[in-house]
Amino acid sequence: MAHAAFPAPSDTAVTGVVMAEAPVARIGPNTIIQLAQVLRDRCGESAAARLLFTSTGYALGALPRAMVDEREAQAFVRAVMRELGERPGARLLHEAGRRTADYLMAHRIPRPAQWLMRWLPRQAGLRLLLAAMRANAWTFAGSGRFTVTTSRQGAQLTFHDCAMCRDMVTTLPVCDFYAGTFARLIRTLITPQATVREVECQAQGGHCCRFEVTGIS
Ligand SMILES: [Zn+2]
Ligand SMILES: [Zn+2]
Repeated sequence: MAHAAFPAPSDTAVTGVVMAEAPVARIGPNTIIQLAQVLRDRCGESAAARLLFTSTGYALGALPRAMVDEREAQAFVRAVMRELGERPGARLLHEAGRRTADYLMAHRIPRPAQWLMRWLPRQAGLRLLLAAMRANAWTFAGSGRFTVTTSRQGAQLTFHDCAMCRDMVTTLPVCDFYAGTFARLIRTLITPQATVREVECQAQGGHCCRFEVTGIS
């Protein structure tokens, strides 16, 4: 029993010495991919590569293709905000969100569904789009909880425990990646008159991150 002092894995599990780690929450790679590309286009290759690598370990030429640990996306978003400041950082995030929506419409949302959303009366089309977003929330909400309520004028989209602004403290609402994605999808597929505004943000001390969709009726 030379190694009796070193418990076998089964022993540690029984005694609870080694606690099971919480499962990693994952989100789609678009936050990182699109934000890296916006950063490259707006701030240059070297600044983009440096911020991306120091916060996530990814290289600009080898961006992730599959779902990522949400903490990598959070670290990248925080790094961009810290380096550029809240307002310019949020602008880049909004653009990254809009590009993500373009990617979704080009590759992920089936053409017949897009056609139907455009063809239906606006409120019905919006309900169809929001149902599709709810069904796919696992790809963008991470450990956050996404809920939707609709009204005659539009809708409220809410994240509790929002993954995008986790551990951030800001003076402005900063979940512009989501705002940009939602705005582009809704304005393209439902009506260009729609607006999407983040009216409550966890990073500002709110209970949740809440987006108001108006201009539908
Ligand atoms: Zn948020
Ligand atoms: Zn927010």
